[in-house]
Amino acid sequence: MGIKTIYVCEKCGKETERSTKGEQYFHVSILIQGVGTGYSNETRTMALWCRDCCDEYQLIISPQGTAKEPAPPELTIEDRLVAVFEAMGFERRQ
Ligand SMILES: [Zn+2]
Repeated sequence: MGIKTIYVCEKCGKETERSTKGEQYFHVSILIQGVGTGYSNETRTMALWCRDCCDEYQLIISPQGTAKEPAPPELTIEDRLVAVFEAMGFERRQ
């Protein structure tokens, strides 16, 4: 009897069998590092996101344009942080 591992994106719900080629999943968390202090802290909560969701919030690389389609505007760090915190279940105060 074998074991099948299924990754589930916590942002969009996409499910992918672990061995599926071309599919990538990432642990997403918030890391704070002090400049010159040696201090660092990482959120204890991590989310598992698929590559498409990471790309939607530009978490891995900056958006790339093509000859036919220009790159979308780069998101601010605030936009990226809000997306990650909301995915972890925090609600935004207005
Ligand atoms: Zn996803």
